[in-house]
Amino acid sequence: MFEITAIPALQDNYIWAIHNGTHAALVDPGEAAPALEFLAARGLQLVAILCTHRHHDHIGGIAELRGVYNVPVYGRRHPGTQRIANNRHITDDLREGGRLRLDALDIELDILEIPGHLDDHIAFTAPGMLFCGDVMFGAGCGRNFEGSLAQLHDSLQRLAHLPDDTRVYCAHEYTEANLRFALACEPGNAAIRQRIETTRQLRDAGLPSLPSNIPLEKATNPFLRCREPEIVRTLQAQSLSDTDELGVFTALRQWRNHF
Ligand SMILES: [Zn+2]
Repeated sequence: MFEITAIPALQDNYIWAIHNGTHAALVDPGEAAPALEFLAARGLQLVAILCTHRHHDHIGGIAELRGVYNVPVYGRRHPGTQRIANNRHITDDLREGGRLRLDALDIELDILEIPGHLDDHIAFTAPGMLFCGDVMFGAGCGRNFEGSLAQLHDSLQRLAHLPDDTRVYCAHEYTEANLRFALACEPGNAAIRQRIETTRQLRDAGLPSLPSNIPLEKATNPFLRCREPEIVRTLQAQSLSDTDELGVFTALRQWRNHF
């Protein structure tokens, strides 16, 4: 059996460590120092690094970690270019439908391509867990830097259709701010008010608000709730005219950008 622990890094990133008392894998190590401290404190040997996407706050610690532990780095090489920094670090290029087996941790992870934050963003999933990088956050979603909002919407829908017992390991602690936006979208949603309270208690205790889970996201994440009449009404009051699901999603993402 293994445990999954959040290692806070940079301003508000989490590096997720999958570990079993002897070995560990790290997801999105944006910074080496806190990861090295964690491994040393627990007496763990690093066996793999997993990358969801090539933003610096997710890959910035890889070179230094690999100077200490010469481990494989699993991720998606950006198609068509060799110049992007992440390509240099990735030793094992993963694709949709691929499966990653980590023998030392006795875990198998499936690879999902989920474009919409970046073109080459991937997720790692296994029964009961999802590492989704910057595509889904607690009560929110990532910005649309590459590709279309339709792609981001489709990627989020794909994640939302994972089984209900899936815990969602997001890469940033953005939940409180996202919930303030969620409440502005849906003032009548009791599940959002409840989550604001439980999130405040966790954060006051110095704990991460994550992992989340699929049912909680479906109940409180406005980006998964674009058909909700209250959200549509809120946006119509701000002059939304395109009330189909993608129109609502687009309006939500634009509003969130300057909320
Ligand atoms: Zn990112």
